[in-house]
Amino acid sequence: MSNLDRDPHPPEPVPAGGPGPQLLRPRDVPLGGPRAMTVRRTLPSRERTFIGAWCFVDHYGPDDVAETGGMVVAPHPHTGLATVSWLFTGEIEHRDSAGHHAMVRPGEVNLMTAGRGISHSEVSTPGTTVLHGAQLWVALPEAARDTAPRFEHHAPDPVTGEGYEARVFLGSLLGVTSPVTTDSPLLGVELLLEPGAAVEIEVDPAHEHGVLLDAGGLAVDDVVLAPGDLLALPPGAAVRRFVAGPAPVRALLLGGPPFGEEIVMWWNFVGRTHDDVVAAREQWQAQLGPEGEGHLGLVDGRFGVPVGADLPPVPAPALPGVRLRPRR
Ligand code: MN
Repeated sequence: MSNLDRDPHPPEPVPAGGPGPQLLRPRDVPLGGPRAMTVRRTLPSRERTFIGAWCFVDHYGPDDVAETGGMVVAPHPHTGLATVSWLFTGEIEHRDSAGHHAMVRPGEVNLMTAGRGISHSEVSTPGTTVLHGAQLWVALPEAARDTAPRFEHHAPDPVTGEGYEARVFLGSLLGVTSPVTTDSPLLGVELLLEPGAAVEIEVDPAHEHGVLLDAGGLAVDDVVLAPGDLLALPPGAAVRRFVAGPAPVRALLLGGPPFGEEIVMWWNFVGRTHDDVVAAREQWQAQLGPEGEGHLGLVDGRFGVPVGADLPPVPAPALPGVRLRPRR
């Protein structure tokens, strides 16, 4: 997914003494285009930049594709981050410049590590009538942000217990470990709870956690979430308690150790400095060759050309007139 948010909300400083649980309410962000699909964004927010290395949480749908036009995101670049796609309903066709052509389907994770640079397109398939899911980004640590781009797909087997069903797509939980490679420790789990269920789950106490509520009513450690909310939980607890309301619950549980590095995040790029972002933008713009050359105008360069891409590439927006500030 491409980030067209022109108002990235630089975060306020965190008060001394460290934050407790933080409930992040979503804001609506249109993705652009004539019949733009709108997403609910909870990260980054004014209050917070990271949960572990997770730095971007977009939640969307269920959307009637006949009304929204579905997802049509033409080739665009990424650097310094990994994208994690998780669908509840629908199907998205992914093409990237590392040579991957894959489908994103419900219950199956697609992780694309941009490393030094990748470009990709994401288009909901013609058979998709309802689109519903989450698009997540992870900041790459310093040691990995210039790696070669790569792509992994995994369909986790559900793990079930009294009142719950979980799909561990990244990291380890409930005795299950995802085989997907990540450049820093991460947790990514889809959690389904039966109505009225009360479930205690052992978690890594060194991790920050985030709970994104998709459907139903849910309290986590006595904090009540509304659908669309993202609850950020500080490290320290070895068990988290999830209590479902009278409707079935679907949530995503994210986690990871505090990231501890400053980043500059702008459009689809994560760098460490303003100049990193300026260089990435210039190198992408240099790939927007004349129409008719290369693939519908896109020529090869740092970000490559997605395999079989059949949409013209997305030009970068103008940089703001001020230096981009690091976030932590
Ligand atoms: Mn993208």
